[in-house]
Amino acid sequence: MKKKFKIFFKRTLLTLFIVIAALTAFILFPQLLFANKMEYKKFKVCSNDKITNDIKIVLDDAMHLVKKSELYDSSYKYNIILCHNSFYNKIDDLLGFGPAARSRLHNVIIKVRIDPKSNLAFATFPKQCEVDLTYLFAHEMIHCLQAKKYGIMKFNPFRHPEFWKLEGYPEYISRRPQLLSKNYSLVDEIERYTDLKNKATGIWILTEEGGCEMPDYYYKGRLMMEYLMDIKHLAYDQILKDTVSENTIFKEMIKWKDSTKKFSKT
Ligand SMILES: [Zn+2]
Repeated sequence: MKKKFKIFFKRTLLTLFIVIAALTAFILFPQLLFANKMEYKKFKVCSNDKITNDIKIVLDDAMHLVKKSELYDSSYKYNIILCHNSFYNKIDDLLGFGPAARSRLHNVIIKVRIDPKSNLAFATFPKQCEVDLTYLFAHEMIHCLQAKKYGIMKFNPFRHPEFWKLEGYPEYISRRPQLLSKNYSLVDEIERYTDLKNKATGIWILTEEGGCEMPDYYYKGRLMMEYLMDIKHLAYDQILKDTVSENTIFKEMIKWKDSTKKFSKT
């Protein structure tokens, strides 16, 4: 009986090991799970749905944004995993339900339905809304490059810089067209953020008019990156190494905003 139990225990352990190894391989190297593939420049797009040429324009636009980043690496190749309604998406949900997209090693994983022709992704959490697909690709591509430059041990779901440094930089790069538009003002945007934050009851706030809600550190982090990079001319590398607290930098930014506003009125 004891021997039989030992054999059963060993077999169960072996099966468990094989299942965990297979799941890990699927999660890290998902390309094999998808029926359709398209190679385009530095991208390999994988999906179970038909991949149309419309996605090439969106990928070109996302790459155009990413090229402006100091983390840009011309030799880096991205797997674009379009996994809405796939078995892979269900496995990925085990790592946390909610986000419209994730990055993992070289994989940009888009978990929600997309329409490349209209440059949209349809997010569902915390509520349904439409996201700019170019922004979504560029944001996740920057996460890939953060891990490439600083190492997966410093940029992973369990260990990473403070959230405002982790998310603020991809936001800063992927929202550049908006930030460089003629009517944009960092001073007004900081006021909008503080106003929204004062009214908010939780961490979710509206990032753009009519758009999606995001945790407040995406917005706050982006504004702080704008202040540190555009006004104080720091590089992302310097910001990562800097040990000054989030609170101190935020207060400094508010002081700059107040004095800039005062100056522009006189
Ligand atoms: Zn992110």
